[in-house]
Amino acid sequence: MLRVEIDSGLIRDNYALLCSKTTSRIMAVVKADAYGHGLEEAARCLYSAGARRFGVGSVQEGARLRDCLDQPFIYSLLGPVTPEDYQLLYQREIIPFIHSWEQLKALKEVACRDSRVIPVTLKLETGMNRLGFRPADILHLLEFWEQCQGLKLHMLASHLSLADNVRGRQEVLRQLEIYEKCCQAMQARGHEFERSLANSAAILAHPETHLDCVRPGISLYGDNPFENTPWASKGQGLAQAMQVRAPVLAVHDLKKGGGVSYGLCFTAPRDMRIAIIGCGYADNYFRGLSNRGWMFFQGQRLPVLGRVCMQLSVVDATRVEDIAPGCGVYALGGYGSQAVSAREMAGWLNSISYEVFCSLGNNPRQWTRTG
Ligand SMILES: *Cc1c(COP(=O)(O)O)cnc(C)c1O
Repeated sequence: MLRVEIDSGLIRDNYALLCSKTTSRIMAVVKADAYGHGLEEAARCLYSAGARRFGVGSVQEGARLRDCLDQPFIYSLLGPVTPEDYQLLYQREIIPFIHSWEQLKALKEVACRDSRVIPVTLKLETGMNRLGFRPADILHLLEFWEQCQGLKLHMLASHLSLADNVRGRQEVLRQLEIYEKCCQAMQARGHEFERSLANSAAILAHPETHLDCVRPGISLYGDNPFENTPWASKGQGLAQAMQVRAPVLAVHDLKKGGGVSYGLCFTAPRDMRIAIIGCGYADNYFRGLSNRGWMFFQGQRLPVLGRVCMQLSVVDATRVEDIAPGCGVYALGGYGSQAVSAREMAGWLNSISYEVFCSLGNNPRQWTRTG
């Protein structure tokens, strides 16, 4: 019963703010259904703000984007996974991020068979120990590339592990150094390509990582990676585009000593008034918010009382006058100083804003425009 409201004006403003922070090209990251905001809507909105490069999560997402935008660059950040992906990516002109020899060889076969030249982004492993070619592979990569037809090296990319940590700068610079050495080795042998390293946090805090192309994701949707840290001002002006509303189903009194919801994990310390809200863990309003979360109603914070159920939650409505069945409360968002940010909710859950957006974004969405 949750309703997700997304303000396209704020996404455009966030994009403009990021443009003002860098002179590099910008690849707007819209993977995972634009972090739960809706792939097509978010991409159209960013396109109208000037974005011409998009990073998607899969070749399938890339194909969807190809159908709705006029001539963008589309990068599949996860590259091809299934055999069908290899066909699809060159049919739909999606530039894959490639992390393994198997992918590279399979792609070369497709290119040679159809006498095509397929542009490729190579993903380098510089410290995450996740996906990518290792710096020790660089000579081997050079050899491959020098006798390779059919594949064109478009970009060398890597990903930072600690860019959003105010104590992570040394590691960012260490990764940058490893990355640049690899780039220089390729360049020294005459290869030309773009360099790309920075995610949102690095755009805001580590300008030396901007290189040729930056890849903002979470900041487009308004999350400040440095909220509540000494670097908070670096993300000042970003505005959360997603709000989530839930209906008030009932309001009633709870006598001192009365318990609430399964397990009676909350007991009223005094006479109270409570509101029953139509949202629960089936709507990805996490059960971990039981006795921890807060909702927003008319400028005030209402604490979640007791366990979050499958489709219902309970909040303390003692201090708000006008709350009644038919009203909506904000499970996420709101306005003014008491609004609930994704990052704050993530803190209550021992999670991150990314997961909050991706999860709550699975509910029915409505795009609006205030700005
Ligand atoms: C998700 C992703 C990004 C965007 O990261 P944010 O922290 O959301 O800005 C950039 N690059 C790659 C490769 C990614 O997978």
